[in-house]
Amino acid sequence: MLLDSLKDMAKREGFRDLAFEIDRTGEFPADLLGKFAKMGLLGMTLSSQFGGGDEDSLTAILAIEELAKHSPMIAAAVFESNVGAVRVIDMFGTEAQKEAVIPGVCNGENSVSVCMTEPESGSDLTSLTTVVEDKGDHLLLNGRKCFITGAGHASHYVVYCRFGEEKGYKAIGAVLLEKGTEGFSFGKQEEFMGLRGMPSCDLIFDNVCVPRENVVINKGDFSKLMLTFDIERCGNSAMCLGVAGGALEEAKKYTTERKAFGRPICEFQDIQFKVADMAMKLDAAKLLVYRAASNAGQGLPSIYEASLGKCFANEMVKEVTDTAMQIFGGYGYSKEFPLERMARDARAWSVAGGTLQMLRITMASMIYGRRFSQRPD
Ligand SMILES: Cc1cc2nc3c(=O)[nH]c(=O)nc-3n(C[C@H](O)[C@H](O)[C@H](O)COP(=O)(O)OP(=O)(O)OC[C@H]3O[C@@H](n4cnc5c(N)ncnc54)[C@H](O)[C@@H]3O)c2cc1C
Repeated sequence: MLLDSLKDMAKREGFRDLAFEIDRTGEFPADLLGKFAKMGLLGMTLSSQFGGGDEDSLTAILAIEELAKHSPMIAAAVFESNVGAVRVIDMFGTEAQKEAVIPGVCNGENSVSVCMTEPESGSDLTSLTTVVEDKGDHLLLNGRKCFITGAGHASHYVVYCRFGEEKGYKAIGAVLLEKGTEGFSFGKQEEFMGLRGMPSCDLIFDNVCVPRENVVINKGDFSKLMLTFDIERCGNSAMCLGVAGGALEEAKKYTTERKAFGRPICEFQDIQFKVADMAMKLDAAKLLVYRAASNAGQGLPSIYEASLGKCFANEMVKEVTDTAMQIFGGYGYSKEFPLERMARDARAWSVAGGTLQMLRITMASMIYGRRFSQRPD
């Protein structure tokens, strides 16, 4: 029923055209958020006590996938509010933090960004240097983050930081920061090749005074942050399923309409094989991603299943959009058609949320049952 209502909404709201418009202008229509909220799409996985829907992750994954068939930007708010950093607050935050953030997320007024990456530490997350110093009645935050999705636009920020000077992952926790806090500012907007319309920039923390009650994850509990992030990885994979599904639908339609040598190009066996391969790879990715999400239920997914699903879906979406572009011939390269946009958008997911290499390192360590240090001896 949910997917049917999203398909109806896509027709009614003209999502296919809207996707071109968002890509062209970089602007997301604000009124759509209210419509999503009315349909219960925002925060459907969050606690009902605070206005959420108590749904499992799989339901949100399916909704994200359906919307991302048109554009990941159309799915972005449903992604952020169900599998984004707000889940850290929903699962591990204090009652006061939940009260301050979750009801607003569910009605579209609030959104929460996850802030891990720094100019000098991306994959090597545990080397991060953003730090909070204990000042007795409060904490003092200093540092810089980069590539933060939603930055400048989001109302709240879950900032991964080091508690004191101690090195290593054991000293890493997270604090909740509200936009507008003194000493907290934003860098210039990133210019990405795709995902146009997605706000992203640096965060700058210059002697930001953080009340003690804003600590979400204390030092010593870094694993809670990373486990919750695996839910976000399932959302990233759902974006890939959606974009690839959209590309497949476009390719199927185009090949029945476009003629060459006096016949529709779908009658050429090479085109049929390409379309069959696209469908096969997409279906395989779906099974892996749905497995990770359904085994998570309302809780956390297995690290192995989430990493495997993301890695496979990230590679699949690049292949499928590339093949679909080829099938469109010269029109695949033209902005009049959606394929060049889909191929640009497809590239982001294998870096965002952890690169393909880092995912494989995680999978290998689970397979061998031991950690492989990446640092020099
Ligand atoms: C669209 C987009 C959205 C993003 N959104 C967010 C966000 O909301 N919040 C946030 O915190 N971050 C976000 N990021 C940042 C993203 O998480 C990082 O870019 C990513 O983790 C990689 O870090 P890096 O760019 O510093 O690359 P690096 O870590 O410098 O890596 C460079 C290359 O080296 C490879 N590499 C590094 N170490 C190893 C190793 N041990 N073995 C093999 N290969 C290795 C990497 O895989 C990569 O190919 C986003 C990025 C993008 C592109």
